[in-house]
Amino acid sequence: MTDTSTGPNQPAPRETILQIAPYIPGKSAAADIATRHKLSSNETPLGPSPKAVAAYAEVAKRLADYPDGSAGELRAAIAERFGLNPDHIVCGAGSDEILSLLAQAYLNPGDEALFTEHGFLVYRLATLAAGGVPVAVPERDLTADVDALLAAVTGRTQIVFLANPNNPTGTYLPFEEVRRLHAGLPADVLLVLDAAYAEYVRRNDYDSGLSLVADNANVVMTRTFSKIHGLAGLRLGWVYAPGPVADVLNRVRGPFNITAPALAAGIAAVKDTTWTDKAAAHNDVWLPRVTGTLETLGLPVTPSVANFVLVHFPEDTGRTAADADAHLVAQGIFLRRMEAYGLPGALRMTIGSAEANQAVVDALATFLGREPVEA
Ligand SMILES: *Cc1c(COP(=O)(O)O)cnc(C)c1O
Repeated sequence: MTDTSTGPNQPAPRETILQIAPYIPGKSAAADIATRHKLSSNETPLGPSPKAVAAYAEVAKRLADYPDGSAGELRAAIAERFGLNPDHIVCGAGSDEILSLLAQAYLNPGDEALFTEHGFLVYRLATLAAGGVPVAVPERDLTADVDALLAAVTGRTQIVFLANPNNPTGTYLPFEEVRRLHAGLPADVLLVLDAAYAEYVRRNDYDSGLSLVADNANVVMTRTFSKIHGLAGLRLGWVYAPGPVADVLNRVRGPFNITAPALAAGIAAVKDTTWTDKAAAHNDVWLPRVTGTLETLGLPVTPSVANFVLVHFPEDTGRTAADADAHLVAQGIFLRRMEAYGLPGALRMTIGSAEANQAVVDALATFLGREPVEA
């Protein structure tokens, strides 16, 4: 740990900042082991659209020029793809930047931001960095609980963050439940719908919430290029927001917060729906197969609608998630440990390539002393 002591003779940060446990990203390299399969950060095994890679490479010729600070062409491409008003779109260096900007802009010191018990960790970090008070609200069956969220609202609540589907549980709320949550919130509380995995969901009762944003002054929806678009390395996300919220974000964001290569790649990626269809189709095949195979091995899996699964190691198996992780890491297979999410008995596995999925199943079969099975 770094030295976090403070004293009268040195600059002191805002008090809540030292409560932040630094974010530990998914493992991708062990000193002595070659990474064979990185399934720890929910990236797509297909990688980005070749058109996005070509657009990125083209920008190498013009790196001396500042990017378009308004991200105009990218916002136009997103607006066309989803039938939105481009003036209500703001782009960020990853949706993480947008979540942080929302916290900075809408929380005064002492204001509360709500999120669910096993919700995405960035909500807590962004809240504390802004001087706010993070409030984790109990879930039911590893799923957001609208009644519990509404019961947790106080006079100090300013933001409710909801990942739908949620990472790391993979569970989701039907749109009716999201609507009920919104209807129960005071008009001055901002509802942030984080739809990072929306493209993977195959449920008739799911909706990312665009219509809720269009019809209300207190709802925003965030999206990312890091997951189905395969551009996590470029840092690109966007938010659809009511006019006044978009205006606030445009005041607080850096004037050139999106790099030129990210703009170019994002424009090409959002237009290449053939590529995202392919990535979603891969998940449609492998999400149920991986889920079923792991359960055959005796490992309960939380039903997921996204491109990852939460795999449980029940106490009665006598094998812990930490032991399983060590076994996998020794073979160059990286899943995500879940201690930071309050789920020490589980690992999160991103749906990978056919080869990667089989490698995990084989390694876990060996770990559990079971016969090999086909993923
Ligand atoms: C991965 C993820 C994001 C995306 O973050 P970026 O900063 O856009 O890479 C946002 N929300 C959730 C819940 C995620 O899992």
